[in-house]
Amino acid sequence: MVCFRAIEDFYCPIPMADTLFCYHCRTHHPKEEMRQIETKGGKRWRCIKSIEATKRSREEREAFGRQVTAINKAEAQSKARSLLNPER
Ligand SMILES: [Zn+2]
Repeated sequence: MVCFRAIEDFYCPIPMADTLFCYHCRTHHPKEEMRQIETKGGKRWRCIKSIEATKRSREEREAFGRQVTAINKAEAQSKARSLLNPER
């Protein structure tokens, strides 16, 4: 005789009661991996993984932005120099 309850427990190691819906991934994650955050629509649960991923990509974007700013500054300076010392 097969015990279906035991099989269910085997295939479902995380009971639904200990999971929360992640509005970012649109799926359920274990409670321990979730953080409650404030959004425009109210309090929502979001997993740490997606929060960290967003934070990382933001840092990467900022690093890229700094790089672009430095390039623009260097370009503006060389342009300013050529304006001050026009070659004839
Ligand atoms: Zn998630």
